[in-house]
Amino acid sequence: VGLPNVGKSTLFKALTKKQVDIANYPFCTIQPNTGVVKVPDNRLDQLSRLNNSAQIIPASIEFVDIAGLVKGAHKGEGLGNQFLSHIREVDAIAHVVRAFVDKDVVHVSGAPDPKGDIETINLELIYADMATVEKRIASVRSQLKSGSDKKIEELLALLEKLKSTLDAGRLASTIELTLEEKKSIRDLSLLTLKPYIFVLNTDESGSVDASLADVIAESTQSATSVTLCAKIESEMAELTPEEIAELGLASTGLDTLIRTAYETLYLITYFTSGPKETRAWTITRGTKAPQAAGEIHTDFEKGFIRAEVINWKDLVDACGELAAKEKGLIRLEGKEYVVQDGDVMVFRFA
Ligand code: GDP
Repeated sequence: VGLPNVGKSTLFKALTKKQVDIANYPFCTIQPNTGVVKVPDNRLDQLSRLNNSAQIIPASIEFVDIAGLVKGAHKGEGLGNQFLSHIREVDAIAHVVRAFVDKDVVHVSGAPDPKGDIETINLELIYADMATVEKRIASVRSQLKSGSDKKIEELLALLEKLKSTLDAGRLASTIELTLEEKKSIRDLSLLTLKPYIFVLNTDESGSVDASLADVIAESTQSATSVTLCAKIESEMAELTPEEIAELGLASTGLDTLIRTAYETLYLITYFTSGPKETRAWTITRGTKAPQAAGEIHTDFEKGFIRAEVINWKDLVDACGELAAKEKGLIRLEGKEYVVQDGDVMVFRFA
């Protein structure tokens, strides 16, 4: 998300290497564009080389390019609520902030003002959440009229706490919530409760105003931010990896954004690797072996017996499975094993 003309489409195009409508007009991208992007991971190449894999299947992440939010979107300004409903469906929000100066590119409120822009977008999301919370408060209150219930009273108290936080102009994510509390309000899909990444779109020099960092720290608890120049990234996206290497460039901005998105969602990767393919599987941090196996096939989960596990680096250092086995580096793990990022797994199932 972001205001119009901050570089969202440029960045999205670079991300997906897909042509999307880039124009110097505030409301040009009406339908959300989605793109599925590879998660860069050089462990895949090393494992694939080790096992002479015929193909590599990386993890992926889906990006949605949501057209510009403007001040007043929650009241239906611009394409208003249509955008907000698209944002509701995502797992994390990447907020693109214009930190580049270019007098040929129109800024919605006159001049680029990263701080002001962050506040504008935050406020729109806060207003949208406020409406959601108020609606729920009203329905919970009327529920309580027909008889008191401890659970519903607790929910009301939580909703009121959320409301006063939002009223004070703070994101819902600034409140510490227990797992139970999170569950009780999950169906509200609050926008300001979602993980948040700031993407600072700088100009070609790559410099950012130092005070911006403070604004970001204030407005979000986790303050994850990625700095890149969308224009350069989009030009680099047209080049082949060989051309990029020749120029001595590295596509770090985009790679960092993709990896940051993955990590912000608490996602980790385990691998399967053999002559047919080396493949990355995506799981949430804390997933146990049977559920991890279920990512491959539900039968693997249902009939799970045990898993053979080795860290990818140990496997590469040992120069293969046979040698790793001889050295006793391959462990047998059961149903309670919590899969770790970088595990290479073989599942035994009935
Ligand atoms: P969106 O409305 O947020 O999707 O913005 P666009 O991606 O369409 O970008 C709006 C205009 O800003 C386009 O003319 C881009 O070429 C330009 N632009 C985007 N990123 C940069 C950047 O990093 N530097 C400069 N100078 N221009 C940029």
